[in-house]
Amino acid sequence: MSFIDNWLRVDIKDINAYHVPPSKDMVKLDAMESPFPLADDLIGQYLAYLADADLNRYPNPNALELQQTLRELMAIPEEFGVLLGNGSDELIQLLALACETGDTVLSVEPSFVMYDMISKFTRLNYQGVDLTEDFEIDLPAMLSAIETQQPKLIFIAYPNNPTGNSFDRVTIEKIITSTNAMVVLDEAYYAYADDSFLADIAKYPNLVLLRTVSKIGFAGLRLGLLIGAKDTVEQLDKLRLPYNINILTQVSANFLLSEREDIDANAKTILEERTKLSSTLTEISALKVYPSQANFILFKAPKANELFENLKQNGVLIKNLANAKKLNDCLRVTVGSSEQNQQFMRIVEEFYG
Ligand SMILES: *Cc1c(COP(=O)(O)O)cnc(C)c1O
Repeated sequence: MSFIDNWLRVDIKDINAYHVPPSKDMVKLDAMESPFPLADDLIGQYLAYLADADLNRYPNPNALELQQTLRELMAIPEEFGVLLGNGSDELIQLLALACETGDTVLSVEPSFVMYDMISKFTRLNYQGVDLTEDFEIDLPAMLSAIETQQPKLIFIAYPNNPTGNSFDRVTIEKIITSTNAMVVLDEAYYAYADDSFLADIAKYPNLVLLRTVSKIGFAGLRLGLLIGAKDTVEQLDKLRLPYNINILTQVSANFLLSEREDIDANAKTILEERTKLSSTLTEISALKVYPSQANFILFKAPKANELFENLKQNGVLIKNLANAKKLNDCLRVTVGSSEQNQQFMRIVEEFYG
């Protein structure tokens, strides 16, 4: 037995590592990234901004300027507090660290896998309540889990990943008002959704929101935020590592996130492409295409594993969920640029044609 096998917590040994497949030279439609690079006319200005960063100094510990930039970009009311994370993943971890060992974390399934993984890392008891056949929240099952499990944290992705839909709003409000748990609505895909719970933070003291810039064009920056009541954020902030947002991210985000017109225009393009991609996929009668409020589309495909491999051999990488629980034969494709989507569609059409 090797050193690490003896040394490591047994439950960590049993976890399957989060797998990121190789994607060099591929059309990358597997991770909800934006297909749009930095606009040419901004590069010079951006480099000048970067050159100004004091790399010999620690960054601003609270990143106050960046907080303000994000408040403007996302129209976050002054009365709410904002906590920044190295990606929203770090904020999920921070929320888990705020719990007592053994507390229960509740979510729905299928959903974002990090709720489960981070609960395990931090010795919390994770419980997932199955969604219904059409990927809605099973409210009676959820209320009964709240009653019996007494969760400390409830994570709901709104819209949900990997299914793409936004759950019924009234159902979510019933969950919020039926529990003492902190309810975390993860709005990673807010830019592509018709609805948000941002304003509801004022109404529900146990509600906080997560957002990220990863799905609006800046996955490489690693920047997420938690929005909640000011006193909630003030207490949670004690668990944040000092300087968790590095200076290159602070400087870059301050510059890039001020270009609100570009960001909005790119989101609008993705929405148009989503409509096109969804209707083209729907025309293939073998497929079942699920409605999306996000920058990706989930679809059920006969011979999903074969289609996935065929796409890969033709240089297009999407996400294979065919073997995931409750997602039999399902694949998830990120909405890319018009050219990328067409390349993807040609392969799919040929496969079934
Ligand atoms: C992509 C995603 C995240 C991760 O965001 P980062 O800010 O990149 O860590 C969080 N939640 C959901 C539901 C996601 O799909």
